[in-house]
Amino acid sequence: MSNKIAIIGAGASGLVAAIVAARRGAKVHVYEKNNKIGKKILATGNGRCNVTNQHIELSNYHGSKPSFVNPAINHFNASTCKAFFAELGVELVEGQRGRLYPRSLQSSSIVELLVYECKRLHVEFFLETKVESISKNSKGFSLHVEGKSLRVDKVLVATGGLAMPTLGSCDSGYEFAKIFGHTIVPTHPSLVQLVCKEDLKPISGVKVEGSIEVYEDGQTKTHASGDILFTNYGISGSAILDISRVVSHSLLYKRALHVKIDLLPEYSKEQLKNLLKKRQKHSNGKSVALWLDGFINSKLARFIEKSLHVKSSDDLNNKELTKLVYILKNITLHVDDTKGFKTAEVTAGGVNTQDINSQTMESKLQRGLFFSGEVIDIDADCGGYNLHWAWASGMSAGNNIGQG
Ligand SMILES: Cc1cc2nc3c(=O)[nH]c(=O)nc-3n(C[C@H](O)[C@H](O)[C@H](O)COP(=O)(O)OP(=O)(O)OC[C@H]3O[C@@H](n4cnc5c(N)ncnc54)[C@H](O)[C@@H]3O)c2cc1C
Repeated sequence: MSNKIAIIGAGASGLVAAIVAARRGAKVHVYEKNNKIGKKILATGNGRCNVTNQHIELSNYHGSKPSFVNPAINHFNASTCKAFFAELGVELVEGQRGRLYPRSLQSSSIVELLVYECKRLHVEFFLETKVESISKNSKGFSLHVEGKSLRVDKVLVATGGLAMPTLGSCDSGYEFAKIFGHTIVPTHPSLVQLVCKEDLKPISGVKVEGSIEVYEDGQTKTHASGDILFTNYGISGSAILDISRVVSHSLLYKRALHVKIDLLPEYSKEQLKNLLKKRQKHSNGKSVALWLDGFINSKLARFIEKSLHVKSSDDLNNKELTKLVYILKNITLHVDDTKGFKTAEVTAGGVNTQDINSQTMESKLQRGLFFSGEVIDIDADCGGYNLHWAWASGMSAGNNIGQG
């Protein structure tokens, strides 16, 4: 008799698991509450899908026990990932910082080819079908869907996390896990924009290539460099997404946070002061803002001018120049909040890894119950690492759930 399995969630992880389990001869049913398969995949990488990264390292992964990812990412590494997608017909090409994208630069190609392979293997999809609950008796598992009870031998919970509910995210997976005694590590948004106390409307829209340092209760916690975008609510951009996990975690425990932004990391303090002194030779009575214009963004120049006591660049004495250098290299902002799960790309926290077998993705508390992807207490840096975890854990779960 064939092994009848149910996968809850037709996202990145569920689709790979469905393919692998079906290749092993299992009869696979996939339940998805959205009206579309792979809705979140379509939104990834700004519609281009950053599938994975050339350099998949343990240090890119986070959670209560990051080493939980080791068996899955050692088995399904960047080259196995490339080979898996090549077999489906997807050629991956490298972008910046080792990021790999489909050559078509269309996330839809990834979804279409995954779905084609699923259908070729007779995987059955049930769309607009929300699984409400799961129970277990001596005959197997029952999925409770729209007042009906569906019997299966094994279940994979691939329901994702809480990030971007418009794409289908919800807390179902955590509720299913709790039924069987699993605990949930408190969740918080990651890869998310930050809300600041200061009024940044005057510099909203200004983007710099800067560096940023995070301080929690006065102690430095982390730093990043790259794009920093000032917005009317706070800060966004790649450097902000990179620090957001640490910030969001500190906010969860209500710790006082501030950040310092270096607008000109390419200059040391001394170099910058010398440069400004040189520029002063041609100040010709210009206001500080106009004098800085052409060197930094004009909106930033006007914003910074307000923090100085002099208005004319001719009047900047040594003390004022030192202050100006400090400001340019230490824009200090107090972080109040994140933009939350509504706009976050990823969920940190989730089903506690201590009760999941990292080799098989099977629950240690309930045989036949498996977990994969973002629902687990694993999240990663920006750069293809989150999707890689979804594919790799889906591969591991699919291989093991698919065994008769
Ligand atoms: C805008 C955006 C861009 C991103 N870009 C990238 C990127 O370029 N590279 C990268 O590595 N990562 C990226 N990520 C993160 C990455 O998309 C996720 O980590 C990954 O998709 C998680 O896969 P998953 O299968 O675990 O969950 P999901 O892909 O979220 O799939 C879970 C599915 O389960 C369904 N579901 C939930 N509950 C139920 C239920 N009770 N019944 C039925 N169905 C249910 C949901 O509708 C959903 O379709 C991005 C995320 C976002 C939001």
